[in-house]
Amino acid sequence: MRLDRFLAETTELTRGLARKALGRGEVRVNGEVEKRGARHVGQADRVTWNDAPLALVGVRHIMLHKPAGVECTARRGLYPRAVDLIDLPKAERLQPVGRLDVETTGLLLLTDDGQWSHRVTSPRRACAKVYLATLARPLEGDAADAAKAAFAEGIRLEGEEAPTRPADLTLLDARHARLTITEGRYHQVRRMFAAVGNHVEALHRESVGPLVLAADLAPGEWRELDDAEVAAF
Ligand code: URA
Repeated sequence: MRLDRFLAETTELTRGLARKALGRGEVRVNGEVEKRGARHVGQADRVTWNDAPLALVGVRHIMLHKPAGVECTARRGLYPRAVDLIDLPKAERLQPVGRLDVETTGLLLLTDDGQWSHRVTSPRRACAKVYLATLARPLEGDAADAAKAAFAEGIRLEGEEAPTRPADLTLLDARHARLTITEGRYHQVRRMFAAVGNHVEALHRESVGPLVLAADLAPGEWRELDDAEVAAF
């Protein structure tokens, strides 16, 4: 890789600023000052900027316990972004794998590995996502049976032609339900409950495919996935 690109990949410098740092003699390759941005560096070369060693960051796979009031967007908006909670170099390269609403809490995956993200979200794979919903109105008796049957069958959401894929609804009590869906439509869980005349007051994602939110992660905390977890998709 060219040295100016290597610097832009491993520091906060843009390629232009990297060239200026090179010009000022701040960069050394294997102990020798190097001023040529076009110089190629490889695995075996030791590169420093102002004496700090630099290393390429590989792809990262993160599990975050998303708190409420955090957005899954790339652009800075009204709310803090999920990526702002990850204190890793070049964190802004991480992208949420699918989205959660601002008020939804729970398991959010982030990565800079585009292929892996695609594997997790690809509709063909129909990866199961499990949500815990707190309902505004009690859901019990015949209404609960009807909702279970409707979700299992697939329902039409307002403004959409294709019915939802079969989803599994388990009522934990009259106001708390666990719902497993295999799609990722916009506000899907909230709209499914709205379609059966209810309202979701709070929503928490417990798992995505084989990955369950780690119990020791408090809201706002994160950890990197291990190799087996990455390979599980
Ligand atoms: N369904 C929703 O309605 N909201 C989410 O954040 C995730 C799934």
